[in-house]
Amino acid sequence: MRSVATNAKESLSRDRLKLVMPPRPPAAALDSTPPSTRTSRPPPQPAPLMKGIGFANVKRYVLSQHDSQHWENTLALLNPADRRVVESAVAVGWYDVLVFARLIRAIDKACGSGNLDLLRQIGAFEVEQDLNRVLRLFLRILSPANIFLAEGKIWSHFQSAGRWTSIQVPGGVDATLTGWAIDTALCKELAGYLEKLLQCAGAQAPHVGHTECQALGAPSCVFRYRWK
Ligand SMILES: [Zn+2]
Repeated sequence: MRSVATNAKESLSRDRLKLVMPPRPPAAALDSTPPSTRTSRPPPQPAPLMKGIGFANVKRYVLSQHDSQHWENTLALLNPADRRVVESAVAVGWYDVLVFARLIRAIDKACGSGNLDLLRQIGAFEVEQDLNRVLRLFLRILSPANIFLAEGKIWSHFQSAGRWTSIQVPGGVDATLTGWAIDTALCKELAGYLEKLLQCAGAQAPHVGHTECQALGAPSCVFRYRWK
């Protein structure tokens, strides 16, 4: 993870530039091809993948905050194919993000009340697992307003797809995620993760709101970081 922190520092000024640049026009506005000659469908995108460490983190959450019976109850809620993936996942492997989505939904049912409220807690727990000493130090150097610089680096370390763009707004930062898996459970868990990350960067009373969500029909997923 040392290289993650170092790279993030090196790209600090470049990313700052991005922050003050006006947003790019949508791709369609740049496309001068007459509509009749455009292909009707974009080429299929590969399924978003994530590192297996996420699977290990949520298992650790269940075993440390609940017990092995709750983990067994979680596994029993999965279909056989997903269960095989979950039980054989290794930290450095890459796995379908949607299998992870079904896993955290099962944990929410087995350990929570099944309304997905537990997922913010699980996200916060995962930050503790993901941050090593170097990255913690790096977060302390960053201000809460620049937290998305760290998040972008952490993201590409653990996820194969998805792109973040961020703008500063009064009271915080609005970060938009596009091109990732679409599932409410994933977004709730991510909001909890980002809120904890904001807290680690020294933010007082951090909150990450997520009301504009692709899973709920919005054009993109917007995470609104706010703090005092
Ligand atoms: Zn969302």
